[in-house]
Amino acid sequence: MQPREPARIPIELKNGARVKSNNVEPQGVYLPNYNVLTPAMRSPEYVQMSTAAAITLGIMKGRMYRCECTRCLNLLLTYPEGCRANCAYCGLARHREAERDYADRNFIRVDWPAVPTEQVVDTVARDAAASPFHRMCISMITHPRSDEDTVSVLKAWTARIDPSAIPVSILSNPTTMTREDVKRLRDLGADIFTVALDAATSEIFDRTRGKGVQSPHSWSKYWEILMHAREIFGPQKFGAHIIVGMGETEHDALALVQKLVDLGGHSHMFCFFPEKGSLMDHLPATPRDQWRRVQLGRYLIDYRGARVEGMKFDGEGRVADFGVPQSELDAVIDAGTAFRTSGCPGKFAEDVSACDRPYGDSPPSNVASYPFQPNKRDIGKIRRQLRIVPR
Ligand code: SF4
Repeated sequence: MQPREPARIPIELKNGARVKSNNVEPQGVYLPNYNVLTPAMRSPEYVQMSTAAAITLGIMKGRMYRCECTRCLNLLLTYPEGCRANCAYCGLARHREAERDYADRNFIRVDWPAVPTEQVVDTVARDAAASPFHRMCISMITHPRSDEDTVSVLKAWTARIDPSAIPVSILSNPTTMTREDVKRLRDLGADIFTVALDAATSEIFDRTRGKGVQSPHSWSKYWEILMHAREIFGPQKFGAHIIVGMGETEHDALALVQKLVDLGGHSHMFCFFPEKGSLMDHLPATPRDQWRRVQLGRYLIDYRGARVEGMKFDGEGRVADFGVPQSELDAVIDAGTAFRTSGCPGKFAEDVSACDRPYGDSPPSNVASYPFQPNKRDIGKIRRQLRIVPR
């Protein structure tokens, strides 16, 4: 799972130079469109949001396969310079500067419309209690302004919307953060703090988002901020993202899940999908059997008290036995929750994520993370992928 080499960016295209030199004034909502000049939009005045959030909010027209709406309003900081990191699996990475302006880049398989922050807050604040959103999440990116601007977006939200009605999560960018930044976000009302480790091991981290791709992140800095979050936000209020299928073994991924649980946190798990335009777009998506085993193992560890030490693995690090009685395993598989999108909880149940943005890690034709409750037919397919037939 070796990323491509990032190409050299001509100096005249670096740092959002095209958008800055055109300096087109933004006029409200901007729907990504490569045929027009991209306006010069900046957080905290502007944020981008997932296509699913934009449809749910009524900003974009569209329908989502087998979903009515998303329960998480994902907001992403935006700047003409974009994210200054170069993570190999990410559509927002810096190496795309020459090809596409930041606000036009696909990210997690979809476009991210840009919207004035005030308009987002206004729309939700009109009736927060009746909002379809169970949670709002601010995704920081690697940019010198992202710490300050996250604070501003959080303040704009909590000034109008009770965070107990719609709690706020922070998807952090540890590279630019200090302990003080973590504390400030908690003091301002953030509910959950997550760190996108993404890679399951330090070697994969380095290869996909560190020195290997001329990116500034380091495994140790990510863990430093994660440990601050553990102390400041407390048990069950911090967690880490893991992408499965970037070269780690199933044991590597589940050992990390166990470590996070032992620390008092949660893991939010995604299936690797080769994002178009990313440095890993030539690589295969995670085989479904591998993904399902790790998804199931993670659920058993996170919510059913199973332990990685109680599981058996083969010589390739694949799960050979989940270490729980067959009847329990069958009940967990049939309940289907283990195979839904994972992320910070919503209002339905602790183990049902608000973050159900559909088809972020697969096409709808071959769902990796189900953004809805899988039905009997889906469970049959999952069992075939797991190669566990019903008794
Ligand atoms: S820091 Fe986040 S947004 Fe930036 S390139 Fe890496 S994964 Fe993408």
